[in-house]
Amino acid sequence: QDKQSTELSREVTLEPDHEFRFEVEFNNKVQIKLAKGTAEIFGTELAVGITYTFTGRKAAVYTWHGCTLEVKGTCLVEYTANETPMTSYLNTHLALEQLRQRAKMEHELGPRVLVVGPHDVGKTSLCKILVSYSLKQGGKPIYVSLDTTEGSITMPGTVTATCISNIIDVEEGFGSSATTAASMGSSTMPLAYYYGFENPSENVKLYKMVSSCLSNAIKSRMAVDDECRNSGFIIDTAGLIDQVGYDIIQHVIEEFSVNVLIVLGHERLYSDMNRMFSNKNVSVVKLSKSGGVVERDRQFKTRLQRTKIHEYFYGTPKCELSPYSMLVNYDDIKVWRVGDVIAPSSALPLGMEGSSNETQVVKVDNYDMCLHSILAILNADQDEHENRLLESNVAGFVYVSDVDDEKKKVTILSPSPGRLPKKHILMGSFKWMES
Ligand code: ADP
Repeated sequence: QDKQSTELSREVTLEPDHEFRFEVEFNNKVQIKLAKGTAEIFGTELAVGITYTFTGRKAAVYTWHGCTLEVKGTCLVEYTANETPMTSYLNTHLALEQLRQRAKMEHELGPRVLVVGPHDVGKTSLCKILVSYSLKQGGKPIYVSLDTTEGSITMPGTVTATCISNIIDVEEGFGSSATTAASMGSSTMPLAYYYGFENPSENVKLYKMVSSCLSNAIKSRMAVDDECRNSGFIIDTAGLIDQVGYDIIQHVIEEFSVNVLIVLGHERLYSDMNRMFSNKNVSVVKLSKSGGVVERDRQFKTRLQRTKIHEYFYGTPKCELSPYSMLVNYDDIKVWRVGDVIAPSSALPLGMEGSSNETQVVKVDNYDMCLHSILAILNADQDEHENRLLESNVAGFVYVSDVDDEKKKVTILSPSPGRLPKKHILMGSFKWMES
């Protein structure tokens, strides 16, 4: 019997409009049960009497009306706070809801919301709250993640769009990458485009290009789905607020026809955004950062990325997966990577074009380069022209665990059995070691 189950649980009572903030390390486990009252984690309600387990998480259980929790296990940090920006977040939701109602009556697009701010101010958490509240009111919002560092939906390095029609999993955030792996190749796979790098500034031109592809795909989806169209979407971003960041924000506002811009936790950014966009039919809203938001250091972020990748192949304790290892002939696949970026646009004076290599693929002939790489299988036909490959969305991901140059074979780890669904494969900069 492990230590956890013999340990006694402790009671935490929360007054209305209070939250219990906690941090759990990756090698630890904390269980929380709602015993009485009502409570939510980033907008998603907890069920009474159900035990939720957390590992490697920083989060808060918030209550509007008061509750009693049973907590078991050791948190790295835990405390109760009574100052939260939740009321202003709820009011923001109510304003968006009005836009949705109007959209419904006039058969128009619902709000197109963009959330910007520096790193670690609670952008993703706010997006979760807004998406959950919309869902609770019967909406079907699309969550768009342009945050390539985190890979909150599938893998790091991707930009994604997910139509949220089911309650968000409070233990795993936005559902784990495992659930997306299980859907590889099928239509329930979230819409993803592979950028392949962690930071948007590494290849701005490519980042803008994949964002535009994603926006076009969302527009087509909304054209055929009334519920999605009226609910609109909420875009989460990467926290870049320097000159390159501003350039990207501008691009995203235009491409996604953003009409509500939420600036989180940064006065100067708010003032700049207000000046740049408020006369362009964009409502610029300022919200403050929650005192509970924790800064995540480099080590935590790397750990989070590794966990995401591991989950994609092996699943989570709740939904375990066994990936398939297979030998693939060099000739059966075509691996591509984006051409070498000699001077990325981000390093050039604004307005000057970077080399076109930034959005051109080159074929990888030396398979040793792929060893330990995460590769994206592209939804492209066998005879697709190479200039159009980067515009293909992702069918799924595989991992190269071994390369045998003599036999001309690579060993690939894949979440689904059988032949790879497509031939064209894109390599990014992410490497991983199975541990
Ligand atoms: P950003 O998207 O701006 O980088 P996040 O929303 O990811 O910020 O928040 C950073 C970290 O702080 C995350 O681990 C998140 O779960 C945590 N966090 C956010 N709000 C709270 C809160 N009120 N209490 C405790 N932890 C929080």
